[in-house]
Amino acid sequence: MEGDDRLHPPVGVVSPAVSAVPVEHLDELQSYGQSVAACTRCRLAQGRTQVVFGSGSAHADLMFVGEAPGFHEDKQGLPFVGQAGKLLEKLLAQIGMARADVYIANVLKCRPPGNRDPQPDEIEACESHLFKQIELIRPTVVATLGNFATKLLSGRPLGITRVHGQEQETTLGGRKVLLYPLYHPAAALYTPAMLKVLESDFARLPELLGRALTPPPPPVELSVVAQMAAAEQLGLF
Ligand code: URA
Repeated sequence: MEGDDRLHPPVGVVSPAVSAVPVEHLDELQSYGQSVAACTRCRLAQGRTQVVFGSGSAHADLMFVGEAPGFHEDKQGLPFVGQAGKLLEKLLAQIGMARADVYIANVLKCRPPGNRDPQPDEIEACESHLFKQIELIRPTVVATLGNFATKLLSGRPLGITRVHGQEQETTLGGRKVLLYPLYHPAAALYTPAMLKVLESDFARLPELLGRALTPPPPPVELSVVAQMAAAEQLGLF
């Protein structure tokens, strides 16, 4: 986290009013959100009230990715506004943060009927919206909430019970990020043991946000490669 300039009110797409990043960048997230509002890539478009694109700071260091909008999210057009959202806000407060400091999105942008699980073809149709959001927001830590977000962004089939609390460096949206799988707050709502684990995993977020990602290889290596390429061109190899 940086200073106050990173704090923004949670809004449907993004608030450009108090931005510390280039306006074009905010405009891009906002206009991308506007284009997704008319998405008809999958069957969920037919039953939704509206697309739930995401909300929070457009340049947050910390981004959360949940599963899909539920009843309240579909009505209000904002992610995590029901009971699970209240718990997420409480967990954030325990580490001295608020919704406005982070960005919150979901794997699916539209509510599956009856809150059923996302189907593989729906995830496939929707995933590029999430990858574009990550590319534009440029978070350093992406916390996945539950199985669907974790499996999609890790690219592995391992379930959340196996991998929660284990950060891993990966590349998302063209940049290195720390991927940090967490139990889904909705699952923790009714399982006290799971809530305890979620709280202790959550408590590590400030440390992860302060951790520098592995720096790129030093430029000298590039120049060695360039020298070898030049020598090859000269017919020395
Ligand atoms: N659960 C989710 O995964 N996402 C929401 O937005 C709300 C509940």
